Amino acid sequence: MARVTRRGILAGSAAASFGTAAHSALAAAPPAGKAGPAIYRYRIGTYELTALYDGIWYRPIGKNFIRNAPFADVEHALDAAFMPHDRLATPFTTLIVNTGQKLVLLDTGTGGQISPTAGMVVENLAAAGIAPTEVDQIVISHFHPDHINGIKDKDNNLIFPNAEIMVPEPEWAFWMDDANMNAAPAAMTETFRNQRRIFSDIAKRVTHFAPGKEVAPGIETLAAPGHTPGHTVFAVHSGNQSLMVLSDTAQHPAVFARHPDWQAAFDVDGAETIVTRKKLFDRAAADRMLVTGYHFPFPACGHLVKTATGYEHVPIEWQTTL
Ligand SMILES: [Zn+2]
Repeated sequence: MARVTRRGILAGSAAASFGTAAHSALAAAPPAGKAGPAIYRYRIGTYELTALYDGIWYRPIGKNFIRNAPFADVEHALDAAFMPHDRLATPFTTLIVNTGQKLVLLDTGTGGQISPTAGMVVENLAAAGIAPTEVDQIVISHFHPDHINGIKDKDNNLIFPNAEIMVPEPEWAFWMDDANMNAAPAAMTETFRNQRRIFSDIAKRVTHFAPGKEVAPGIETLAAPGHTPGHTVFAVHSGNQSLMVLSDTAQHPAVFARHPDWQAAFDVDGAETIVTRKKLFDRAAADRMLVTGYHFPFPACGHLVKTATGYEHVPIEWQTTL
């Protein structure tokens, strides 16, 4: 057997790097200038899940961003997460669940109607080898535009023409009630108008479910009110594995998992949001459940660990085989 000596290793690596240098001197390497497809596949039991990145929005924030904490504390949290003080990184990740029988899409992304740096669901779906016509069922967590706008394109056409659309009954009851729209503060008017643009002409094909019901085999829905009145999360079960789909129980975990008592300006009922968040996070941490959050950094799944002051999100390790 040949003895590997330190000198031999050094000589070998010198030869290798000489070869690389010689090669790169000959080839021009223009920068790509754009990111690649962003999909991530994992399994829960026999179900295959595909996280589809829709992109990111940098939400402008100011002194009133957190209702119940001084902005200096918020700035401190942003510093700790290496985030700027004037905008909150708000990534969007939708999820396809392949049950073996059906392709179920949990929330639809922005449809390219929120931010120029988002709207990539269809492109990433293509990278995942799935055509929009193949999606059988869409299940919506709540009616904010970043979750429902991807039902339609900018020209009001259905992006997933064959999919049944399922929405939480209490969410429909609150937002589609014109009395609530008329009584709402001006800042919410656009949200109500957008919901009518998306749903009014397709109301007949929209199915309502009561949170608590199973919407497909192994896909359980759970009431998670606060962020909006009918805000719903999902638990996906297959075999002896489960995944908690937290929807908007918390937005960026560096801010809202570490500071679970913080009420964001965009939560409809701040106090109820906190109760829901702690209940679900405690369960996920105690059961060591895999979780995914719609606004967690891509691929948006990992675990939650309880700390002395809140929770820490531990991202999943990227895996190359399922
Ligand atoms: Zn959202």
